[in-house]
Amino acid sequence: MLYLQPEHAGLLQHVINAPEVYIVPRSSGKILIGATVEDAGYDKAVSSDVVAGLHRAAAKLVPELADARVTSSWAGLRPGSPDNLPLLGQTDPGIFVASGHFRNGILLAPITARIMAALVMGESGGIDISAFSPDRFRGAQLTAHPARKHQDSEQLP
Ligand SMILES: Cc1cc2nc3c(=O)[nH]c(=O)nc-3n(C[C@H](O)[C@H](O)[C@H](O)COP(=O)(O)OP(=O)(O)OC[C@H]3O[C@@H](n4cnc5c(N)ncnc54)[C@H](O)[C@@H]3O)c2cc1C
Repeated sequence: MLYLQPEHAGLLQHVINAPEVYIVPRSSGKILIGATVEDAGYDKAVSSDVVAGLHRAAAKLVPELADARVTSSWAGLRPGSPDNLPLLGQTDPGIFVASGHFRNGILLAPITARIMAALVMGESGGIDISAFSPDRFRGAQLTAHPARKHQDSEQLP
């Protein structure tokens, strides 16, 4: 992801979602450009050619962005799981896990919070979460994938 600082405030008033990039104007005047996805374990290093590629793709859609300054760039993690299902449940007395939502952790935050709050309070919550039990990985050796070179641009999110 990167932030651009365009010369003129108010260049965009809405989000643009295209196959190669998404462009999100912030109230600060900066414009967020996202994003690539890479299976890289915990490596959050950002490469300049990827940043330049996203900047180029954004400028193809909004030519005024070509001259905008890149003020920052960074990467985040999307915690996933081997079977692509989240982990929701209790692992030990007093220890609860809610993770592995990969690309949908923000979207699924409200329902996850509802489920976990009920669980912590010892209530059923009325939703069957057995498929998400962390017990399915109990005893398994879970390690981060070794960094792969493969890199894609992605649609939202
Ligand atoms: C570029 C990008 C775009 C995304 N877009 C979307 C989107 O549009 N919609 C959507 O639903 N999801 C999106 N996601 C995914 C979403 O951000 C994640 O699914 C979500 O953040 C996962 O939440 P989490 O709480 O499991 O993990 P995290 O958000 O990673 O939170 C883990 C927390 O634990 C802390 N932590 C780590 N290690 C330790 C430690 N040893 N001790 C104490 N604290 C520690 C970290 O600092 C962090 O605050 C996106 C992710 C990325 C990277």
